[in-house]
Amino acid sequence: MYQIALITGDGIGPEISESVIKVLETINDKLDLKIKIEKLEAGDNALAKTGKALPESTLESIKKSNVCLKAPVGESAADVIVVLRRILNLYANIRPAKSYPNMPALKDNIDLVIVRENTEDLYTGMEFDVGNTAVAIRTISESASKRIAKYAFLIATQRNQKKKVTCVHKSNVMRRTDGLFASSCSEIAKDFQNIQFEQMYVDACAMNLIRQPEAFDVIVTTNLFGDILSDEAAQVVGGLGMAPAANIGDDFALFEPVHGAAFDIAGKQAANPSSFILSAKMMFEWLGMKYQDQKCFTVAKKIESAVFGVVKNGIKTKDIGGNMATSEFTQHVIANII
Ligand code: ATP
Repeated sequence: MYQIALITGDGIGPEISESVIKVLETINDKLDLKIKIEKLEAGDNALAKTGKALPESTLESIKKSNVCLKAPVGESAADVIVVLRRILNLYANIRPAKSYPNMPALKDNIDLVIVRENTEDLYTGMEFDVGNTAVAIRTISESASKRIAKYAFLIATQRNQKKKVTCVHKSNVMRRTDGLFASSCSEIAKDFQNIQFEQMYVDACAMNLIRQPEAFDVIVTTNLFGDILSDEAAQVVGGLGMAPAANIGDDFALFEPVHGAAFDIAGKQAANPSSFILSAKMMFEWLGMKYQDQKCFTVAKKIESAVFGVVKNGIKTKDIGGNMATSEFTQHVIANII
C-alpha cells in the first residue's frame, strides 16, 4: 500500500487533480497496486482560508506519506514549492522532454532530460535593497554542484541513450559561481568514463534546444537556468500541457507539472491534465526504484502508453491542437489503461 499526499493547488490545479485521482483509482481497481490518496491544501486557497500557504497539517501529512503529488499553486508558489524543496531536501529537479507521435514537436527524435539543481542559486530568497538598488545573492556550493552532477551522470547511465551529460552554465561571465559549478561537474565526470561530458554556455544551449534538440541526452544546470530551459524544452516537444517534473531527494520525492496554475483557463475544462498524469507516471518509477517494486514500473509504462496512445489517435486537448475537455480526455486515458 502506497500512501500518496496530493496537493490539489490553485487555478487549474483542482481540475487536473481530479484527472490524476481518476487515473490512480483506475490503477487501484484494474492493476492490483494498492494506493491511498490524501487530498491536501496548499497555495492561495489555503492562504485565504488558514492564513498559511503551507499549513502545518499539510506538511505533517506529506511527511507521513510515501510520496507527494503536487498540482500547481498560484501567487504563493514560492511559499509552497520552494519551502517544500528545502524542508524535504529535494535537491534534484528532473524534467524530461520527449517527442511522441502526433504531437507538435520540433523534431520527432527528441529524448532529453534536464537535471536542475533545486536548492541554491538565485532562488534562496536572499534579496535586499541598498539605497535604491535591489541586490540578490547567488549561492553555488561545491557540495550541491557535485551532488547534482552525480545524479545527472547516474541518470545518463540508467537511460542508456546517447550516454552524454551536457553541463550548462555561464562561467565566462559569472566566473566564481558558475566557474565552481562547471569545475565540480568536470570533477564528477572523471568517475563516469563511459559517459561523454561536454560543457555549454546557457545562451548557446537555449539556441541549440531549438536548432538541434535531438543532440541532447542529459542536461545538468543550476536552478534559474534549469527553470527557464525546461519551459523551453517543454515547448520544443509540444507544450507545457505535456511536461512532467520530479523533485527528488535521498529519502523522499515530489512530482508536479512543469506549468503553473494557468488562471486564464481555470474552471473551463480547458486544461490538459497530461503533465500531471505523466508526473504520476514518474512517481511510480521512483516508487519502483525506492521499494524495489516491479509492479510500479509496469504501472508507469501503462500510464505513459495510455496518454500517448490517446494522443496518437488524435484525441487531444485544445493546447495541443484538439478540442477535448479535461474530463473527456481523462476518460479516454482511463479507458486506455489496461
Ligand atoms: P507560472 O508563472 O507559475 O509558471 P503561469 O500561470 O503564469 O504560471 P503557466 O501556467 O506555466 O504560466 O503557463 C502559461 C500558459 O500556458 C497558461 O496561461 C495557459 O494558457 C497555458 N497552459 C499551461 N498549462 C496548461 C495546461 N495544463 N493545459 C493547457 N494550457 C496550459
